[in-house]
Amino acid sequence: MNRSNWLAAVGVVCATLTVPAVAQTVKVTPLGGIDGEFCPQDRALVFEDPNGTRILYDPGRTVAGANDPRLGKIDIILVSHLHGDHVGNAHNKAPNSGTCAQPDMSVSAVPNSNAVNIAIAKKSKIVTGSEMPPFFAAKLKANGGDPANAILARFGGSVTLGGVRIATVAALHSNGLDPDYIGGDLGKAMKEAGIAGDVGLATGYVLRFSNGLVTYLSGDTGIIADQEVVVRNHYQAKLAVMNMGDGFTTGPVEAAFVINDLVKPASVIASHANEVGTVDGKVRTGSKTEAFMKAVKVPVHVPLSGKTMEFDAAGKCTAGCAPA
Ligand SMILES: [Zn+2]
Repeated sequence: MNRSNWLAAVGVVCATLTVPAVAQTVKVTPLGGIDGEFCPQDRALVFEDPNGTRILYDPGRTVAGANDPRLGKIDIILVSHLHGDHVGNAHNKAPNSGTCAQPDMSVSAVPNSNAVNIAIAKKSKIVTGSEMPPFFAAKLKANGGDPANAILARFGGSVTLGGVRIATVAALHSNGLDPDYIGGDLGKAMKEAGIAGDVGLATGYVLRFSNGLVTYLSGDTGIIADQEVVVRNHYQAKLAVMNMGDGFTTGPVEAAFVINDLVKPASVIASHANEVGTVDGKVRTGSKTEAFMKAVKVPVHVPLSGKTMEFDAAGKCTAGCAPA
């Protein structure tokens, strides 16, 4: 190699070294009831790690069963608690069935649940806390799946799967199992007596993705000190998914306090509105979603179904968020 060729080669190497690394973002895609809207039953989010691991959080009733074409590969399913609107006691016939206000959720998923049906079809692992793993293990086994795919992450511990560290955190809520999942004489007797099965405490999650982004998924919860002591002080979550629908969980004012004063993330995705949150993709005037957005001091992003948002390690939305 002569001198000029050598210098050219050095130049190529230097240019290569100075090219900035491709941004490593976590992609978040809501799988709601109606494309481009935020609707009453919407809970389901798919998180995609930069390494390709795909995690489905609270499939609920808007994922149209295991054959929903929006699902793609699902490596891990998270279920915050076993109420029907989170685990999925029924679901849409197909994406966009019915209207935002009145979705068609006529497909029953009991006694399995939408989460279990999806896990079996996709060979996903179901990671839950509290005392829920034995329930999922039994359902997987009863339907020809592998009970070892029901994995425990109890409060204070964590599991790392597909490069994502998954921990559960406290949620102040209830977690009764509808006797419809139990069936038989026992289920019938429990139903008549008005009592639910005991599957331990409801949970939230903290996920640490491979790009370093730490995300808090509140699940259904009230205001709890752990949101400051555990989620903020220990895990240092930078992105939060906050349930704010009122009645069953924190309302807009309480949820805003959790975000502004306890968790203090860089940004938040509103969730679990139990209302028509948007019309034509715009936040509805007078909605709880609007009240939450006005009360929160950091950017609030609305989970419009099918619209993928991207977040960097600092919890900042870098693409696809509404409002931007
Ligand atoms: Zn609930």
